[in-house]
Amino acid sequence: LTTVLMQGTDIAGLEVTLERGNGQLLLGVPNPDGRKSSVRSEHQSVSAAVDGAERGRARLSDVPALVVSRPLLYRDLWISASIPLDSALSKWRFDRNVLLIAALLFITLLLATGGFAVNYLRSIAAARLAIAQSKMTLDQALESMVSGFMLLDAQQRVVQWNRRFLEIFPWMAGSLAVGLPFRQVLQTASLYQLPTATDAERAQWVEQRLLAQKEPAVVPLEQILANGEHIEITERTTPEAGTVITFHDVSAIRKASAEIETLAFYDALTGLPNRRLLLDRLKQAITAAERTGQWGALLFLDLDNFKLVNDTMGHEVGDKLLEQVAQRLSACVRDADTVARLGGDEFVVMLKDLTNDKVQAAQIAKRIGQEMLRALDQPYLLNDQPYRSTSSLGATLFAAEEHNAGELLKQADIAMYQVKAQRGNALCFFDPQMQAAISDRAQLEVDLRNALVKDEFELYYQPQYAASGGIVGAEALLRWRHPLRGLLAPGAFIMVAEESELIVTMGAWVLRTACQQLAAWQGDAQLRALQLSVNVSARQFHQSDFVQTVTEIVQATGIAPHLLKLELTESLMLDKVDDCITKMGQLKETGLRFSLDDFGTGYSSLAYLTRLPLDQLKIDQSFVRNLGVRHSDGLIVQTIVGMAASLELEVIAEGVETEAQKELLAQYGCSLYQGYLFARPAPVAQLEALVAAR
Ligand code: C2E
Ligand code: MG
Ligand code: MG
Repeated sequence: LTTVLMQGTDIAGLEVTLERGNGQLLLGVPNPDGRKSSVRSEHQSVSAAVDGAERGRARLSDVPALVVSRPLLYRDLWISASIPLDSALSKWRFDRNVLLIAALLFITLLLATGGFAVNYLRSIAAARLAIAQSKMTLDQALESMVSGFMLLDAQQRVVQWNRRFLEIFPWMAGSLAVGLPFRQVLQTASLYQLPTATDAERAQWVEQRLLAQKEPAVVPLEQILANGEHIEITERTTPEAGTVITFHDVSAIRKASAEIETLAFYDALTGLPNRRLLLDRLKQAITAAERTGQWGALLFLDLDNFKLVNDTMGHEVGDKLLEQVAQRLSACVRDADTVARLGGDEFVVMLKDLTNDKVQAAQIAKRIGQEMLRALDQPYLLNDQPYRSTSSLGATLFAAEEHNAGELLKQADIAMYQVKAQRGNALCFFDPQMQAAISDRAQLEVDLRNALVKDEFELYYQPQYAASGGIVGAEALLRWRHPLRGLLAPGAFIMVAEESELIVTMGAWVLRTACQQLAAWQGDAQLRALQLSVNVSARQFHQSDFVQTVTEIVQATGIAPHLLKLELTESLMLDKVDDCITKMGQLKETGLRFSLDDFGTGYSSLAYLTRLPLDQLKIDQSFVRNLGVRHSDGLIVQTIVGMAASLELEVIAEGVETEAQKELLAQYGCSLYQGYLFARPAPVAQLEALVAAR
């Protein structure tokens, strides 16, 4: 017992008893209270327990316990030790609990993790689905967009495009690919956009498009495709520095606005500008005329007896007539001019930039107006029936003065009514003075024609001097001995002659008379060396048979061609340089000479001056007049003389009026002179007398 007790002191709950075989308790540790006198005796079954211990009840506390009972050497004495299961298992229980808790925790954790994982996977799947769905929605949206679409990445490479894009640019279908640089897309596009352009022009187009992309415009870019479609291009930068480009077909809008404009500004029947557009253009023309000083004209036209057509043949026929009138009027004017229909049978024609001389402008306006009247006078075909109609034309001029568009229209209208009052088919100017000037001109033209027949022209001769004082020749200058107005200088009539074909006949007369004069001098030793200069007008020179006419005259009069010098002006050569060179070359071959008249006032370019077979430059009088007065004119004269020297040309000064001018000219190296200082133009007898006096 002692041993047991000693060994079991640190075994928690150990109960040790000494008892008899019948269960009487002899001793118990820990000491039981007095009431306990016997324990349950089950000693017989003890041997069956594992390790000698059996499950039973504790001897003293009677709680479930592990019990070991051994008989002692003394008969009928048993020693029992029992450990209550509670305390025996407490450590194990604790471990078990810890284990259980740990396992529980672990399982919970596992479950939680699993739960989370499942949840996570589920949400990922859901997100994927959502993404896929929204991509699908986006794709559907992009595909069903009415605009073409293209997405570029930050490096300007193609990321995505839609079907509409390929519908707009079908030629891109083969070459478009993800990752393709946008520059290449444009290069392909340029082949179709500019089919006839050079490579350089295409490259420039591509660069411009790329540049436009760098600076997104406030107004969207608009590209007009080769097939006429208008594509509005909008570009936006994405947050990732990429670019979204949309291509919107605005052809219909453009077409509609063009139609709206047509409706607002054009006459529906004839397609001509209406009153509104006319007034607009007229205002612009007036402003421009104020700046340039070029006269313009407004012609107001009204068909005579148009109401009769409408009333007797019906409005449809009337409309047909108006359409034909519109066509004929348009054919009479230049592109810059405007033919408008105000309504009914009223048409207005605006002519711009006629010339800076008022009377001349009126003359041109009148000529065009008369052309129109003639064109409208031709028979029309209405319902297969020939029909004739005349019209009335009122005209007014506008230029550097203050004019009001409405006012001008009224003036032309009033002038037109004047014509109507005189039974139509004519043209009248609003301004009575203008009307008078125009009438004068018309009269002058008639008189000139008569003058040719009546032989009223004369040639005056102005001698040309060499530095030595000798007369080398003369310039033949035209005079008109007018039966009423006396002797007239060319200033009074030459322009009118030049505007009509009259100058051709007059010029030929001058040439023939001058040549006859040269021929007449051939018998006289003093006069036979004299040269004659003859002025030639542009219209005269540009006649196709000019060379032939001159050659014939020279041959008929039998003069030495080198005695005849033709004076041409710079302006004459401006338009048809090559034609001039050819004609001059042909005449030059016959031995004729050429002088360039009024030199320095035109726009001669040195380049073609060297190509012309000239013999002489004639310094214009305006430079001679200011010699010694205006420094620059002295420089110009010196330059002309120097230039003439290097081109091996003679140089003559005209309009020499003072000794000082002659001195300076001589000093500058000019050795031929013509001017009032020496002699005025005069009849041939005076020239002959001057030569004889030398
Ligand atoms: P132009 O050919 O430059 O003729 C020179 C003009 O200057 C002449 O005027 C002459 O009288 C004038 N003149 C000569 N010396 C002086 C001077 O010292 N001072 C001033 N102030 N003037 C001087 P004109 O005879 O009145 O002829 C004027 C223009 O008419 C000519 O200019 C020429 O362009 C043209 N013309 C004359 N005769 C004919 C002709 O037969 N045919 C053609 N087509 N034109 C002609
Ligand atoms: Mg001349
Ligand atoms: Mg001259």
